[in-house]
Amino acid sequence: MPDPLAPLLEGYAEDRLRLPFCEKCGKPHLYPRARCPHCGNASLAWREASGRGSLASWSVVHRAPSPDFAAEVPYTVALVRLEEGPQLMTRVVDAPEEALRLGLPLTLRFATMPGGERRPVFAPEGVSA
Ligand SMILES: [Zn+2]
Repeated sequence: MPDPLAPLLEGYAEDRLRLPFCEKCGKPHLYPRARCPHCGNASLAWREASGRGSLASWSVVHRAPSPDFAAEVPYTVALVRLEEGPQLMTRVVDAPEEALRLGLPLTLRFATMPGGERRPVFAPEGVSA
């Protein structure tokens, strides 16, 4: 069976956030699964996300979980509700802790993680990179 996560990670490598949409009920979901979690259909189509979302939950990390992350702290781990509906565990960048609030409008960017891989992150709407 193909890895349901592969299309997501292949998109990340190209700085693209794509979501699996069910071809039966039309709903997107995350994290990727072999079948639609809403209706059980196995036919999924990957489409590019709008890149817009809002802050649903967050935590500011002050203590690096491993030496690889020592240069990264403090950073904000966040649950972002994408405009399409699904939520993505990601990071919020270019936002001081005091600027974070529930529902803060965010836009997609890509960043290189300490391991070298490209991953989606989000910044407050209107803040340029
Ligand atoms: Zn479905």
